Amino acid sequence: MNLIIFQLTSASTLLNLMKLGAVISEDLLLKCVKCGLCKSVCPSYYGEEGSFARGRLALAEMVTKGEIPLSEEVKKYWDECAMCRRCEWICPNDVHYKEIFVRAREKQEEEVGRDFISKAGLKSLEFMQSSFGRKVVKAVGKLGFLLPSEVKTPLPNGSVKFMPKPDGKPFNLRGKTFKAKEEKGKLLFFTGCMIDVFYGKTGESVVKLMNSLGYTVVVPEDIKCCGAPHLYHGNKEAFERLKDHNLKEIDRYEFDAIVVACPTCGGALIEDYGRDWKVYDFAEIVSKERIDFKAEGERISFHVPCHSYSAMRVDPEVFYSVMERVREAKVVRAEKAQSCCGFAGLWSIKNPKLSERVQKEKVEDFKRTGADIVLTTCPGCVLQLRDGMKKFKSEQKVLHLADYLADRLEAM
Ligand code: SF4
Ligand code: SF4
Repeated sequence: MNLIIFQLTSASTLLNLMKLGAVISEDLLLKCVKCGLCKSVCPSYYGEEGSFARGRLALAEMVTKGEIPLSEEVKKYWDECAMCRRCEWICPNDVHYKEIFVRAREKQEEEVGRDFISKAGLKSLEFMQSSFGRKVVKAVGKLGFLLPSEVKTPLPNGSVKFMPKPDGKPFNLRGKTFKAKEEKGKLLFFTGCMIDVFYGKTGESVVKLMNSLGYTVVVPEDIKCCGAPHLYHGNKEAFERLKDHNLKEIDRYEFDAIVVACPTCGGALIEDYGRDWKVYDFAEIVSKERIDFKAEGERISFHVPCHSYSAMRVDPEVFYSVMERVREAKVVRAEKAQSCCGFAGLWSIKNPKLSERVQKEKVEDFKRTGADIVLTTCPGCVLQLRDGMKKFKSEQKVLHLADYLADRLEAM
C-alpha cells in the first residue's frame, strides 16, 4: 500500500516538475540546503520566512510537489521578490534562483494571472519601442520643457515617486554610427529603454568615452526592450518575441563586442540570448584602457547595481578602479555600497513600502560618507537614488558614472 502511495505521489510530483521544467526539479529538491545565508542580503526580508529566498524556494517546492495550492499568500511572497539575485550571488550551494523563479512565475501566470501594474508596465515597455510608441515618446519629449526635471508621480498606495521626464531627443542615437578617429575596434551599443527614453545624455556619454578610447560605436536602428523585465515576471512568450526581434536586428551589424550602460540589459544579453558575444559594461572597457580624467576636488561615492555583479558578474572593484583614476576626486566608499537601492523596475511601484524602506537605508548610508556625488552604472538606480535623495532630504547629487567621466575627460 505504502509503495503504491509513494509511486502515485512520485508520479504526480514528476508531472508537476515536468510542467515547471527539469532544472527546477534538481535545484529545488537538491540544491537549497536551507542554510539561510541568503537572508542576510535580501532587500525584501522583513522577518517572515516567506520574505526571502529560502522561504520562497520552500513554497515553490511545496507548490511543485502539489502539497499546497498556489494561493494568494504564496503569490504575495513571490511578488515581493525584487529579483535582484543577491541571494544567488551569495548562495554557497549554487542555487539557480533566477531559473527557478522565472519558471515559478510562469506557473503563477498560468494559474492565477498577472496583476494590473505588471501587465500595464510590461506592455508599456513594448509600446515605447514600437514605431507608433516612439512617435508618442518623441512628441512628449518635445513638450518636456513644460515639465520639471523630475515629475512627482502618484503611486497606487498613495505615496509618490519622482520620475524623470522623457528626454528632449529620445532615441536620438538610433541608427547612427559614431566613428573613432583611429579605429581599433567596433562596438555595438545596446542602449536599453531607459537611456533611449529618459537619459539620452548618458547614451551620448558612453559614445564619447568609447570614441575617445578608439572604438567606433554602432547603435542599431530597431532594437526593442531586452526583455529581461518580461522574463523576470515569468512572461516567457514576450521575452522570446523580443529576443527574436533583437537577434535579427543585431545580426544586421558587424561588431567586435557589445557595450551596455545598463546591467539588466547586459545580464540578459549574456545569460539569455544564447550567443557567445562578448558583452561589456562600458566601465569594464574604460578600466582596461589608458585614459585620464580630472575633477575639481569633489568627494565621490558609488552604488554598485545588483545586476552588475549578480547577472553580468562584473567585479565591483572594476568600478572603483575607474573612479580612482579621476585626478583631484576623493573616493569615499559607502558601507552598504553593494546593497540593493530598492528600484528593481516595477517592483518599486508594486511594493512601494518595501522599496522605500530599502531606499531610505541607502540614502542614510550615503549621507554618512559625506560624498558630494553618488555615482552608479544603472539608469534604474539613478532614477531610484535621485528619488530617494529628494524624499529623504539629501543634497547629494546622483550621476551615471558614464556622465561623470565623460564630463571630466582630459584631452588624450
Ligand atoms: S543561501 Fe542558498 S542554500 Fe542557503 S538557504 Fe539560501 S538559497 Fe538555500
Ligand atoms: S532575488 Fe533579491 S529580493 Fe528575491 S529573494 Fe533573492 S535576494 Fe531576496
